[in-house]
Amino acid sequence: SLPETEKTGNRVTVFVRVRPISKKEKEADSRCCVTIVNPRDVYLTEFVNPNGYLRLKRIRRRHFTFDACFPDSATQQEVYSTTTSELVEGVLQGRNGTVFCYGATGAGKTYTMLGTVESPGVMVLAINDLFGKIKTRSCDGNYAVHLSYLEVYNETVRDLISPGRPLVLREDKQVMILLQQGNHNRTTEPTRANETSSRSHAVLQVVVEYQVRDAAMNIIKNVGKLSLVDLAGSERALATDQITLRSLEGANINRSLLALSSCINALVDGKKHIPYRNSKLTQLLKDSLGGTCSTVMIANISPSSLSSGETQNTLHWADRAKEI
Ligand code: ADP
Ligand code: MG
Repeated sequence: SLPETEKTGNRVTVFVRVRPISKKEKEADSRCCVTIVNPRDVYLTEFVNPNGYLRLKRIRRRHFTFDACFPDSATQQEVYSTTTSELVEGVLQGRNGTVFCYGATGAGKTYTMLGTVESPGVMVLAINDLFGKIKTRSCDGNYAVHLSYLEVYNETVRDLISPGRPLVLREDKQVMILLQQGNHNRTTEPTRANETSSRSHAVLQVVVEYQVRDAAMNIIKNVGKLSLVDLAGSERALATDQITLRSLEGANINRSLLALSSCINALVDGKKHIPYRNSKLTQLLKDSLGGTCSTVMIANISPSSLSSGETQNTLHWADRAKEI
């Protein structure tokens, strides 16, 4: 199993997903500034508005390469299969895996992770897949699936579905409803007019315990953990990137996102000490980042020129995460 570990461990796979342009963006006459030229390469075009109005002028194109880029036509199932299905298989074999959605508010993180009843996202598809696999293998031994759905908001951890202890999941039928209810309990905060911005991180953790007897009738116990994380909007983290720790503590907004960035930077730089203890989010994920754990990052972006600044920041961050 060593080659497998080498293949899936020690590296972050990084994906980009472009969501469809919204009605609002269309009505604002914005231009599309994201072009996926092949399955791995994406271009971001920057426009300026020389007269303050009238036609936008193209000034620069930036190029990024990722493990895969999903256009706005990509289905939830395609995104799940490419990004996460391998991790689900790993979890059934006792390994840990983590998937993050990163991006500005409105870029499509929650759609990718949770999705809708008609188009369920990665969280739901992963659990369905997990149960499907368990059912076909249940003669091999005993599985137990525990699930928790937590929110990190203002450095406070809150249980979104089953306060107290992890829920024991017996089947996958009610998962969508359960997670939607949980998501409804998330802390949201109105920012600009007509918009609701989420500063909270939602962390779904699925622990699979598996007991089987080997040929010599010894009990072998495997435990694997899958963490699926819908991160808070990255726009604030980037805005606060340069501010002092003191003002950060005053605001207390993005400690977890900043701490996650620090951990990723430390992993990128091959540091021995990874500062997991700096925030609640990184504490929750300390056994699920780096080491032999498989990590997947999905960077969500809008195609509209209205968001090109955020998109550029998101792509730069994702580009950095690639180096782990
Ligand atoms: P975020 O969680 O990053 O703030 P959302 O996931 O809530 O953003 O997405 C913003 C809006 O765009 C929602 O109305 C969502 O349904 C829609 N949306 C996002 N991604 C897609 C997609 N791939 N296909 C269709 N609609 C999408
Ligand atoms: Mg969201």
